[in-house]
Amino acid sequence: MPRPMQRTNGLQCPWSRDQIILVILEITWESCYYTTTLLTSPLLPLPPIFFIHTLALLLRISFYYNISASDPCTPPAGCCVFKIRKNYVGEDRFCSTCKKIVPGIDHHCTWLNTCISRHNYDAFLLLVFTNVFGMAIRVFIAISNAFPDLFAPLMSDSMEPRETGYKMMWVSLLVVSALMFLSSGFLMAFHIYLCYINMGTYDLLLKIRKDRMEKRNKKGVVPEENV
Ligand SMILES: [Zn+2]
Repeated sequence: MPRPMQRTNGLQCPWSRDQIILVILEITWESCYYTTTLLTSPLLPLPPIFFIHTLALLLRISFYYNISASDPCTPPAGCCVFKIRKNYVGEDRFCSTCKKIVPGIDHHCTWLNTCISRHNYDAFLLLVFTNVFGMAIRVFIAISNAFPDLFAPLMSDSMEPRETGYKMMWVSLLVVSALMFLSSGFLMAFHIYLCYINMGTYDLLLKIRKDRMEKRNKKGVVPEENV
């Protein structure tokens, strides 16, 4: 019987459904966003904002590639690796998707199609932070385009009144950006909390399950005086 194939990194085939969805959505969304911004955005403080947004996007892509292309079982190369979570070691556990034991596993990420371990957790945190930062800028750009009156003092040129379609388009982009900002913000807050309590995602889930079972067992025990 052939042995199940171990996954070395996130870019190895077969890709997960979530990974394919993410890549397609990211490419579509970024092209749509940049085209819309370049073609229709007013003169708001666009050059610096646009530059910061692009920088956040490039950082996000580089962290995504860094995590996806590397083996979570291998320490990152280089001697000057930026360490955010110095004290966390985590348990080595078997990942049923990667088919291997992963050192200090935090969780298996289906969007990256690889495990987040003690070796790539810092890169994962930076990916989440840059994602939140990029989404915050995107929300700001969308608000400034949907409701330019709010930013009138910052405008270097007087704005011509825009047609309703333009406003609706930016309001739609604002809604999507805000939802993405909130979901990535929630993920960031969750991982900041995990860093604070010095636990991994699996550790916390297992602890919650254990506490729940203990509570249920305690409720199941009938006190002697009632027997
Ligand atoms: Zn895995």
